[in-house]
Amino acid sequence: MKNQDLVDFLRSCGVCEVCQLRYLKARGSEYKDINETLRNLDIKVNETVENGYSSTPPDDQPAKKQRLTICSTCLGLFSEDFQKDLLAGILNSDFGKYDCQTIVLAISLPMILQLRQLAMWYALQRKFGPIIDANNPPDVPIKEAVKLILHPIICEKLGKEYDPNGLMISVDLRHKLEEEEVDKLVKLNKEAFPYKAAHQKRIEISRGLLEKQYQPAKVKADTFEKYFQIPSPTVEEPLELKTIELQGPLVCVAGRYRKVNREISHTPWVLNGQRVMEDSIEEIIIRNVGAHFTEKPEKIIFMSSGREDVDVRCLGKGRPFVLEIPNSIRSSLTKEQAHKMEKAVDESGKVSIVNLQVVAREELSHIKTGEEQKKKFYRALCALKEPVTVEILEKLQISKSFDIQQKTPIRVLHRRPLHTRPRTIYSVRARVQRGNPQALIVDIVTQAGTYIKELVHGEFGRTTPSLSSIIGKAMDIQALDVVGIDLEWPPEVDNSLSSLNT
Ligand SMILES: [Zn+2]
Repeated sequence: MKNQDLVDFLRSCGVCEVCQLRYLKARGSEYKDINETLRNLDIKVNETVENGYSSTPPDDQPAKKQRLTICSTCLGLFSEDFQKDLLAGILNSDFGKYDCQTIVLAISLPMILQLRQLAMWYALQRKFGPIIDANNPPDVPIKEAVKLILHPIICEKLGKEYDPNGLMISVDLRHKLEEEEVDKLVKLNKEAFPYKAAHQKRIEISRGLLEKQYQPAKVKADTFEKYFQIPSPTVEEPLELKTIELQGPLVCVAGRYRKVNREISHTPWVLNGQRVMEDSIEEIIIRNVGAHFTEKPEKIIFMSSGREDVDVRCLGKGRPFVLEIPNSIRSSLTKEQAHKMEKAVDESGKVSIVNLQVVAREELSHIKTGEEQKKKFYRALCALKEPVTVEILEKLQISKSFDIQQKTPIRVLHRRPLHTRPRTIYSVRARVQRGNPQALIVDIVTQAGTYIKELVHGEFGRTTPSLSSIIGKAMDIQALDVVGIDLEWPPEVDNSLSSLNT
């Protein structure tokens, strides 16, 4: 089979130039200059065919370049007219609302297109014989061709780049004959696969089923022809746009927060339908960061590397957190915008944030995994019933790690199962609080998941050993701060205005 014979036959069936190239199994950039590709393949270029496509249409060909015929296999999907309609459709949608640099097109194709590829497959077999394989399609599949042809053109015209994680433009197409053809397909299906039809109450004919089951190797041409023409007849109407829906990317915004207040919960604290505390770290951060990215801040998911109790502060470099923002209208954040957000959060007087930045979705693993292996750094203010002695102080200078057994504290039993967990304490260092001989400031490094309050007082022997049992005296905890978290993420960024001027 010569390329020229193949193309001549396709042309006689009303197949457009792009589809001719699909049947010549053209790849990537070969669709850019069709005539050149045809010439390279030794095909006579048919100057009268005007329904093809070229990536740079000359401006000085107005009325002449009208739609003469609609391609019988792609139904105009690859025509310039369709590109124009698609582009106009996208620009008429909410597209302008999204400030994203990258896009991805998801085009849902009507089944009539697949049926037409199949009809051409049979036609080629009849024309050229067994050289046309009955198991492998003779063309570059339409879905793939959409990626090779439409994607680059639409990206270029919109001035965006392709990225599978970008703004998703879902395009649903319809064709006037779709319903009619699907009805015929249902009948064909009963005849072609009678066993399956008899054993299934309702047969859902899907695109996937068409792709898998409908090949000349599985359905005879004669059976197919009882319902559909081989090759497909020309049509009057091209494909039309049914709907265009936009779905912004999932944007992840990370930073570190410092909790500077002992009266704020991590997430909204609601008891029996009533709020216990009017605000939370999660809400303060989302309130000040969310609006830049989405009109629906209630959809934002707040995650952090661990959390602290309401009455515990988190100081030092702060605790890493990330906001997962679905359907985001923006995927970038300038330093100036980040700085404004950081300042606005600071003004709450309860939380402050730093290092605010957009991060790649893959980086979420930093927060989601390895929590148990991490070290935690605490500072506890502890009170004794008597003045601290040198002996007590010496017992609380521990630089070698040791293990404790910790029963689930009574205060959390309502939400955590009762277990005894081993936990490692890496170091303990105590000093007397200035001006208060009965108070100790204790720096403790522990394995994540250790209950610190119970580590200090022992909770009637439910945590052993405890700092209290180590010194042999009753000891209570008055205040606790997290002073460090063993996670160097996200990277430090200086969003302050002074850094902008340099
Ligand atoms: Zn075509």
